[in-house]
Amino acid sequence: MQRPKLELPNKADKLLLHSCCAPCSGEVMEALIESEIDFSIFFYNPNIHPVKEYIIRKEENIRFAEKHNIPFIDCDYDTDNWFERAKGMEEEPERGIRCTMCFDMRFERTALYAHEHGFPVISSSLGISRWKDMKQINGCGVRAASHYPDMTYWEYNWRKGGGSSRMIEISKREEFYQQEYCGCVYSLRDTNRFRKSQGRDRIKLGVKFYSAMSDEE
Ligand code: SF4
Repeated sequence: MQRPKLELPNKADKLLLHSCCAPCSGEVMEALIESEIDFSIFFYNPNIHPVKEYIIRKEENIRFAEKHNIPFIDCDYDTDNWFERAKGMEEEPERGIRCTMCFDMRFERTALYAHEHGFPVISSSLGISRWKDMKQINGCGVRAASHYPDMTYWEYNWRKGGGSSRMIEISKREEFYQQEYCGCVYSLRDTNRFRKSQGRDRIKLGVKFYSAMSDEE
């Protein structure tokens, strides 16, 4: 596994990495460790529904962070605030304005924590997924960081240099839980609608894990 040597912007000394889940953050974390970058994981994802799915995703992430002795900050699961902000956007498609709100909300909290705890740089594992719009994510990250003087959102493209394929390799090696929808109740609904249209079964929570035999992301 050849990875580029990474450096934080502005020669900063540490990073607060927002993490959405273990599969997306696995490669990001290993790349940071290999580059000897000091970082902590910030898990703030009140979008994930239902709570059963939230706990599985979080526990997988904790398991991997503990394996590498990376500090894991477990933030609120303030779903009421998330649903309040999502009002009127229930029918929006993925990558639309509801997702902008969702990234904004998660990065605003990440930036606030970073500001209060002396992290000059923030970033997120969200952008490594090919299902996401990296420009949309970076725009939200930059906006959140811009509220604080001297804070930078690191717009590193985690997909490049083989990052996307290593993400899958690591997920298989670690046998991570393989979520089948983005996270919120609306993405669960829409994925199930799509599966129904294809004659497929509804998503069953907590049953699918990556393995050496997995052939999909
Ligand atoms: S589809 Fe994903 S990014 Fe968009 S609002 Fe739902 S959980 Fe957030």
